[in-house]
Amino acid sequence: MARPGGAAPTLSNAEIAKVLLGLAQMLAVQRENPFKVRAYRRAAKAIANTGESIDELVRRGADLTDIPGIGTGIAGAIREIVEGGGALSQLETLRAGADQHTAGLRDYPLLDPKRVQRIYKKLGISSVRELKERLESGDIGRLMGVRMEHHVRQALSPGTEMQLYEADQIVPPIKEFLIGQCGADRVEAAGDYRRRMEIIRQVSFLVQTDDFEQVVDAFSRYGGRITLIEADTASATFQHPSGLRVRITGGPARLWGLSLIVATGSEQHLENLQEAGYDLLALARGKAGFKTEAAVYRKLGLEPIPPELREGHDEVVRAAAGRLPELITTADIRGELHTHTVASDGTRTIEQMAEVARRRGYEYLGITDHSQSLKIARGVPEVDLWAQIRCIDQLNDRGTLGVRILKSAEVDILADGRLDYSDAVLNELDYTVCSIHSRFTLGRTAQTERIMRAMDNRYFTILGHPTGRQLLRRPGYEVDFERIVEHARKNGCFFEINSNPDRLDLSAANARRAVEAGVKIAINTDAHSAGELDFITYGVDQARRAGLESRSILNCLAWAELQRLVRR
Ligand SMILES: [Zn+2]
Ligand SMILES: [Zn+2]
Repeated sequence: MARPGGAAPTLSNAEIAKVLLGLAQMLAVQRENPFKVRAYRRAAKAIANTGESIDELVRRGADLTDIPGIGTGIAGAIREIVEGGGALSQLETLRAGADQHTAGLRDYPLLDPKRVQRIYKKLGISSVRELKERLESGDIGRLMGVRMEHHVRQALSPGTEMQLYEADQIVPPIKEFLIGQCGADRVEAAGDYRRRMEIIRQVSFLVQTDDFEQVVDAFSRYGGRITLIEADTASATFQHPSGLRVRITGGPARLWGLSLIVATGSEQHLENLQEAGYDLLALARGKAGFKTEAAVYRKLGLEPIPPELREGHDEVVRAAAGRLPELITTADIRGELHTHTVASDGTRTIEQMAEVARRRGYEYLGITDHSQSLKIARGVPEVDLWAQIRCIDQLNDRGTLGVRILKSAEVDILADGRLDYSDAVLNELDYTVCSIHSRFTLGRTAQTERIMRAMDNRYFTILGHPTGRQLLRRPGYEVDFERIVEHARKNGCFFEINSNPDRLDLSAANARRAVEAGVKIAINTDAHSAGELDFITYGVDQARRAGLESRSILNCLAWAELQRLVRR
């Protein structure tokens, strides 16, 4: 799209972000200050997530430093990019001086040249085309590991799916844009996102408007310009710069509640409603208005079903019988059982973590630094754990922290199923989180037996991140989950829902299975910094999707009750 008078073409925010990422890539090659590199990457993300056209803002002379993540230096670079129609002299200079291999990466600014160099060397290749081929053949994953494979895949083709916490950053600016710039009267994010799925394949928005076409037209200027994939009279699908699909559906005010139920439920859920004779279409055809979801449920004679349960399990039957679970909320959480401090690979002291836990209103905070064998995470030698135990005793005796500190550790489950500390020191701990951090490819039977043997130890309390999965990066290790659940039940062991948004492990399905078998669950953040205690909302989302009530959750108990449960 040319500007009148031959001025530079309008750039979309995605295009501007790409130039900034290119600069970050070249600065990384030059071994520039990593904080500076990160700052450019962060700015690129902020811009790609902005609804307003940055190009227009620049031409209007607006102050870009109002955008979080953009300082004066980066604002200057953005101005130059816009005024030069996408060119940035610093980037051109760096690229001109780069070697051939690095220069070949210019269309893929997310690729880390150093890692690519390593792959090229190992596989004896020299171009992005070959890189793609070897990615698809599985060579990169097999020869260089899942992390490397993940990096290359992400950098070559930004995925069409993303983790929930990333969608949490993308959804608010879209909502704001639909209301502020597209004339929508009301907007609600629905679909997978509203059901708090851990992986989002498409974000859908229900939009109330008198003029849907106008909303779609205005939304095509999101971030300067956004690609429309398909549209009909009632819905439109766009491609967000992140790669994610954004679907917008119109819903009239009179049927808002009904439309929201349709836009939110999984296919299976909507099918189950239909099959059980709850005819949403018939309601839509009638004269009555259904402005709220509650009004629809009332009319159907169902208990209101929380969005997280609308997956097509047994929720329709239970809603009809008035037996839906009373789902756990973050307000029910009384303490935290899995945190790291500077003693291992955390960034805060016990006292600093305690202060944040106190402000959250927690009664207790478990300190679970890594155990001695885990050298890459600065595992704590046994003598140092003894010292930490004495230190925590003193802190609790002094009683000035406003929260009780629990003595614990994240104890490695060794390859043969032994725990990574002596019984003597384990006996001093209030409880343990026991985890697997090595030998992921042991094979299903051996892995299952390794965990079961560990559970036989009377100092084993909670199985940390029970399947080891990392979302969109690696599947969990193979285990016979049924056998582990049964063994945990017999031995009085528990499972964790690890709330780290990269893990969310147990999955909702496995959490449901564990609780149905009678095993309680701890919702832990695995916080390595004070801010990460906030991850708890993601763990609670996951527990809600599993249909869990507070009585199934260990850390919804007061310490006095919990203490009785964890002692074997
Ligand atoms: Zn761990
Ligand atoms: Zn941990």
